[in-house]
Amino acid sequence: MVDFTMNSKDFYKALKAQLLIGSHCQDCGYLAAPQRQICPNCLGSKTEVVNLSGAGKLMAFTVIYVPSLMMAQAGYNAKNPYCVGIVELVDGPKISAQILDMDLSKPESIEIGTELTMTTIQRGDAENQKTYLAFKPM
Ligand SMILES: [Zn+2]
Repeated sequence: MVDFTMNSKDFYKALKAQLLIGSHCQDCGYLAAPQRQICPNCLGSKTEVVNLSGAGKLMAFTVIYVPSLMMAQAGYNAKNPYCVGIVELVDGPKISAQILDMDLSKPESIEIGTELTMTTIQRGDAENQKTYLAFKPM
């Protein structure tokens, strides 16, 4: 079903195809996202790449007004902040990503538990374009 490997580059390859991948431990059943060769739960190495649903809910978030260099280059600044959150996937794993389509002029209006679905963001010019994970409300 999945043509992706444990190589971390494949996480981004999957995103390019609008897929979110993780790993499933065949020993203890633990799901991790992004995929991991060694199970973070039991340290076993019998892991396989699996597709994750891409649906989840917002567990925690922060609104960032002083961006990293990469995000500054993407156009974010104190007047144009961005939101980063931890999303608990319906499959189980938690993953951090940019959260889109929130009213950042009123961070207090952003609700923990908001149902989200994965999307992607393209950054960089044609040659150096990269695809990043993001989530938006369902
Ligand atoms: Zn395990």
